[in-house]
Amino acid sequence: MPKKNDLERRALRLVIDAGEEGILQSDMWKKLGVTSREGSRLALKFEEKGAVERKRVLHEGRWTYKLFSLAKMVTIDSIGDCPCITCEGLDKCFPGGQITPIHCQLLTLWMDPELAESLANEAAETGN
Ligand code: SF4
Repeated sequence: MPKKNDLERRALRLVIDAGEEGILQSDMWKKLGVTSREGSRLALKFEEKGAVERKRVLHEGRWTYKLFSLAKMVTIDSIGDCPCITCEGLDKCFPGGQITPIHCQLLTLWMDPELAESLANEAAETGN
């Protein structure tokens, strides 16, 4: 019998691998070799955690659920303009260090473009 965490990891991998097409809840539990009850329990748990969206769909004349991953894949493009990549302090930057990502304004502004825009607008209004 597979360990609980291993089963959850395999289940989530199936949903992620299904991509935008999603996967029928019944296909997931069949591929995992678990009961429909266990499969439903996993799907509900993932939904509660915000990892998966369950959509009610009509499949072969029966209402069922389809699972869609809400996880966003990290790509190189998505971090290409991260200030850490070109930062001269990168090798000395760590939590608890003299330079720390926890208090880095550059990193904070990069992670929160709305904050960066808000501060830029504020600066433009006050002339600072
Ligand atoms: S968190 Fe800030 S200081 Fe640290 S490496 Fe990134 S840009 Fe540099």
